[in-house]
Amino acid sequence: MKIVGLTGGIGSGKSTLAKWFRQKGIPVYNADDEAKLLMNNDPELIKKLTSEFGEETYKDGIYNRAYISSLVFKNKKALKKLNSIVHPAVFRHFENWLNGLDSAFAVKEAAILFESGSWKDCDAIITVAADEEIRIKRVMERDQLSKEQIQSRIKNQWTDSQRIEKSDFVIYNNHGLDELKLEFDRVYKDLLKQYQSG
Ligand code: ATP
Repeated sequence: MKIVGLTGGIGSGKSTLAKWFRQKGIPVYNADDEAKLLMNNDPELIKKLTSEFGEETYKDGIYNRAYISSLVFKNKKALKKLNSIVHPAVFRHFENWLNGLDSAFAVKEAAILFESGSWKDCDAIITVAADEEIRIKRVMERDQLSKEQIQSRIKNQWTDSQRIEKSDFVIYNNHGLDELKLEFDRVYKDLLKQYQSG
């Protein structure tokens, strides 16, 4: 089955597009959500993370994101180590998830599709792009985060232009949801045309 990567910065509109793919019957794997679930539930992953980062990695049995973020924030080596433990586990889980699905293509939604290297396993990549100010406003409304908190996340992610350079489709989401839907329809039709016949 063909794999279509769906990525974009924080607040760009990935989840909105993912919802519309699901409504069309296309299976969508949310790599960010699944990674969180695995980090809290996969015994082997929990063991590896604890032995690398210490007992503090889990607080009352729950992954201590604040602790790990503080460790990896300014330490590239620790971040690399974290990724080298988590990404293969997510990759294996994704491969299992794919098994038995019957669809022209499946969508893998990931904020860090490029940063994690998983873009290499995709047959096509969609980037959803939007101006930073617009994204910040949307996320502030959605999550009650401060402008500074959102900006610091943006700083840790690739820029739109880096993502666009490596993408097959670009959807701009600077306007309303009606405009976004038209862009979605255009890309969806194109993907069906390419992948439906096999
Ligand atoms: P994150 O990476 O933070 O999870 P995301 O890329 O998945 O974000 P969405 O959750 O789809 O982005 O969109 C962010 C917020 O902005 C949501 O509340 C969504 O409903 C809203 N939104 C997205 N696109 C538009 C738009 N064109 N017009 C108005 N609101 C929008």
